[in-house]
Amino acid sequence: MSLEHHPEPEATCPTCGRAAAYCVCEFITPIATRTKLLILQHPQEPGVDIGTVPILKASFPSSLIRTGLSWPNLKKVLGREVENQRWGVLYLGSVHVENLPKERSLFVVDKKGDPRADQEQALQRLEGIVVLDGTWSQAKTLWWRNAWLLKLSRLVLRPARHSIYDKVRREPRKGCLSTVESVGEVLSLLEGRPDIQEGLAKPLRELVERLAKTRPRGSGPQRRHRGGARRRRPQ
Ligand SMILES: [Zn+2]
Repeated sequence: MSLEHHPEPEATCPTCGRAAAYCVCEFITPIATRTKLLILQHPQEPGVDIGTVPILKASFPSSLIRTGLSWPNLKKVLGREVENQRWGVLYLGSVHVENLPKERSLFVVDKKGDPRADQEQALQRLEGIVVLDGTWSQAKTLWWRNAWLLKLSRLVLRPARHSIYDKVRREPRKGCLSTVESVGEVLSLLEGRPDIQEGLAKPLRELVERLAKTRPRGSGPQRRHRGGARRRRPQ
């Protein structure tokens, strides 16, 4: 009998903060990208063992993670001058990806959610991306409480793959991905590097397998209500 399959229940990993049974740090390889990454995390999001932000943090050591509900503007968050249009914010909102043209999977959309005419140009100009981390309704809250996000280039992704994280946490709409999967797809597309997505999928797959064994979907307190506008997370 191997000891590593029976960790002490109270043991936590100093790097990711997860219980040892859910630590997937050994599956993570740091990835260098030219696109900068800013993650705005809803304060209620971090469920330590289930959260995917630690995977992003370790995979992209130069990423910036901010936890909160609102910030005055991008310049304040980054602490330097920025050109808003050179940053993309990934937010699906009420856009129906199935109605978007089929020839591409990453779109820059206007305020109405329609694809802009200058797709390639707008994508090539991007210096960084902002990702909202949380449940569907938490991301929506972040979107509405930070009006400055409207000044950025809004990105919409039509995922090429199904979510593997969906095993653990049901997404509210078909085709939704977890934060880590969305980031993987977007950065892979922007940089033409499938290895980014592959690199992120490895630890996520491992985490999902471990979580699924101990907390099947829908059985735990982390269950995401469909359309969950009034979701409550027990502490
Ligand atoms: Zn760890």
